[in-house]
Amino acid sequence: MAQSREIQLVRRPVGTPVEKDFTTVHVAVAKPGAGEVQVRNLWMAIDPAMRGRMTDAKSYVPPFALDAAMEGPAIGEVIASNDPGFAPGDLVFSRLGWREIFNAPASALQQRDKASLPAQAWLCFAGMPGLTAYAGLVRIAGLKAGDVVFVSAASGAVGSIACQIARNMGCKVIGSAGGPDKTAFLRDMLKVDAAIDYKAEPSLTKALAHAAKSIGATGIDVYFDNVGGDHLQAALALANNFARFAICGMISQYNVTDAPTVPRNLTLLMTKRIRMEGYIALDHMDLEGEMVAQMTAWNAAGQMASAETVYHSIDKALDAFHGLFTGANIGRTMVKLA
Ligand code: NDP
Repeated sequence: MAQSREIQLVRRPVGTPVEKDFTTVHVAVAKPGAGEVQVRNLWMAIDPAMRGRMTDAKSYVPPFALDAAMEGPAIGEVIASNDPGFAPGDLVFSRLGWREIFNAPASALQQRDKASLPAQAWLCFAGMPGLTAYAGLVRIAGLKAGDVVFVSAASGAVGSIACQIARNMGCKVIGSAGGPDKTAFLRDMLKVDAAIDYKAEPSLTKALAHAAKSIGATGIDVYFDNVGGDHLQAALALANNFARFAICGMISQYNVTDAPTVPRNLTLLMTKRIRMEGYIALDHMDLEGEMVAQMTAWNAAGQMASAETVYHSIDKALDAFHGLFTGANIGRTMVKLA
């Protein structure tokens, strides 16, 4: 028997999740059965969508079950296998994070190349955040060289990749993030053209107008929305005619319990002929091969920095999760498990 720990949801949070909503359980993992593979997770990623799955509401993925280990993207190493497709030492992707060691049917695992990229990159720019940013900009927004692109939560997992894709594709990029450290990161690491510290701005609309002017523009052509609320309102106010909005996420709304009060200017969708489209990356898996090839090439050319905030050990996984909502993390939030 292998000894493992896993984090379970024990009750559904209301508003911001608290410690009592979760428990850590010690489990003994038997040898893998027929057709099963035993995996030791090396890295797990934490993302805001997990907040949605803690609630018992209908969405594009089912809620987490109570009193069972939560789920999430993870990269692990095969330690024993009863399936001919996997051997000890293989690097595998699964959605079975929030646990250290597990047995799973081979169908729950996907092989990942060890040689071309570091293991955790498969959870960052070559994983779902990469696909989310790529699909949103390239397919949903129809990104073109020369576009002025505004990215909110720009220092986060998806946002930091979106900024770099837009930059690499010849666009001008304005990023918004909370605090001077994050705006310095946007300028120095991601090489955006203008950065907004939204926490220091009394008017996001004025700040976005100022940022656009500083790069010789009067408005934005593309908005990559991770935040919703006042960021969406500012983007609508500064949108050029025929702007394209890719609605990736609305994190400012996930923990609120009252009805939203912004945006108040949705009429601009019509007067400016803006195309606004929400999307879910899982619907665009057909772009995965193209995205991985492009990201690997940009990474090899030094044009795709992997931004990560790493917590060590499963004990710190809930701290990592809270960090998403308090703005403590830069880039992809990950837990190194082994
Ligand atoms: P991040 O790593 O970007 O973490 C979230 C960031 O959001 C924080 O670091 C924080 O940065 C910012 N934030 C939190 N609360 C607020 C707020 N009230 N106002 C403004 N900014 C806030 O997460 P991801 O990159 O994983 O996800 C980004 C967005 O993309 C989320 O909305 C997520 O739900 C969505 N998403 C959508 C997918 C899809 O398929 N459509 C797939 C994956 C993610 P700061 O300090 O700058 O405030």
